[in-house]
Amino acid sequence: MTKSQILILTSNDEIGEKLTNILHQNEDFHISRVNDVINLESAIASTSPDLIIWDGQDNLTDLPQLLTNFNDHHAEISVILLGNEPTYAMVLNALRGGCVDYLCPPFIEEDVLSIVNNSLKRSRKSEQSQIILSRMTEGIMVINPEGRMIFINHAAKQTFELETGNLIGKHYKEILHNTDLIALLEPYHTAENLHGEISLSDGRVLNCQVTTIPEIGYLISLQEITHLKELDRIKTDFVNAVSHDLRSPLTAILGYVELLERVGEVNPQQKEFIQRVRLSVQSITALINDLLDLGRIEAGFDSQKEITPLGAIVRYSLEGLSNTITSRSQVLELDIPAETPFVLGNPVRLRQMCFNLISNAIKYAPIGGKIRIQISATDEHVIMQVSDNGPGIAPQDQPHIFDRFYRASNQPADASGTGLGLAIVKSIVEDHQGRVWVDSLLGHGSTFTVVLPIVEKP
Ligand code: ADP
Repeated sequence: MTKSQILILTSNDEIGEKLTNILHQNEDFHISRVNDVINLESAIASTSPDLIIWDGQDNLTDLPQLLTNFNDHHAEISVILLGNEPTYAMVLNALRGGCVDYLCPPFIEEDVLSIVNNSLKRSRKSEQSQIILSRMTEGIMVINPEGRMIFINHAAKQTFELETGNLIGKHYKEILHNTDLIALLEPYHTAENLHGEISLSDGRVLNCQVTTIPEIGYLISLQEITHLKELDRIKTDFVNAVSHDLRSPLTAILGYVELLERVGEVNPQQKEFIQRVRLSVQSITALINDLLDLGRIEAGFDSQKEITPLGAIVRYSLEGLSNTITSRSQVLELDIPAETPFVLGNPVRLRQMCFNLISNAIKYAPIGGKIRIQISATDEHVIMQVSDNGPGIAPQDQPHIFDRFYRASNQPADASGTGLGLAIVKSIVEDHQGRVWVDSLLGHGSTFTVVLPIVEKP
């Protein structure tokens, strides 16, 4: 077994010698001495101590700061604070500075040996955890509340091609230069949990999760997801290609179905069958159009944006829906100011987003039900709300309704759909740097809220 390295930091020769003599009784200990905190770093470099016995009496006023700095740089080394004349403040400083124990006169052999042994045992355990963390293939970093690095494992160093020198204690902005990561970490001390994707210069993509660890700081974990992104791209390409190739034959089928009735007499039963074929082809076409739209929005093909008044967009989308509202005897309440703020957007997509939300409200509100559309604004955002008094959405369904193909359980039997409408809404809103969410109470109705950033009219 290799010997445990113990470094005693004291300018008091008498104490230094006394402790050295006691500790020498254990043959597994190797004892070194340093008499001034100024020489501590070089002593650490030459002895690689597992444990430091630190005489706090020498630098009483700077002690808390010295201990905190030390911990930031050498979290792997345990410290026992030594106090010749122990005071309450000193013990408190020791605890706050992360010391594992406290030694004070009289130095009784048995006590000293047992305190040192226990501290070494604890530091071995934490050493094991450090080894496990450092060998993980996931990148792990921990920063303290001031943004200084207190732990970084090998995988994280490799990912960001960091030099092998001592990174501990440095501010993360000094060592990490990945712009995605810096942008993601920017609000680290105000946000509860952050996560996002970051791209590396070699094309790899990482999922980055920032978790708050109370009293310690922030844990940043990095998992490579390049293969998942690639699979997602292949799947999207496949869906787009299939959707595209299906559209032409469907258009042909619909065309011939329309012709059937014109080329000769059909009996009422044949007429009904033709109508069913027509409806089925129309619903597959709607599904394919939705899929192609999603693909286009996600691929960023609609990047052309112009300054658009949201109120006009809502009124425009209502034009295509007013007949359905009338046929369902529903009441439409509009609370839209004559002049609504401007947003920077793609008018076609914004209309599609409004159309999807309003047509859902119409579809899910009962016959004779109520639909309300409201537009309001804050200094920086325009808020659109579409409410209905339909069946509402169960709490367990609410987190999923913006996913592709998700259809909640309590929808009315006559409400047909593809489960893609809200996925399209979400993609459009996010493409416009906005947010969308639902507030809903089962049996009472739902309110969908869209918040978009306002732009100044030129
Ligand atoms: P769908 O084509 O099924 O309407 P959406 O993506 O538009 O697909 O909506 C997903 C699911 O969310 C719907 O199937 C429905 O269960 C629920 N939903 C959406 N809007 C409403 C609403 N206004 N009221 C109640 N449920 C709704």
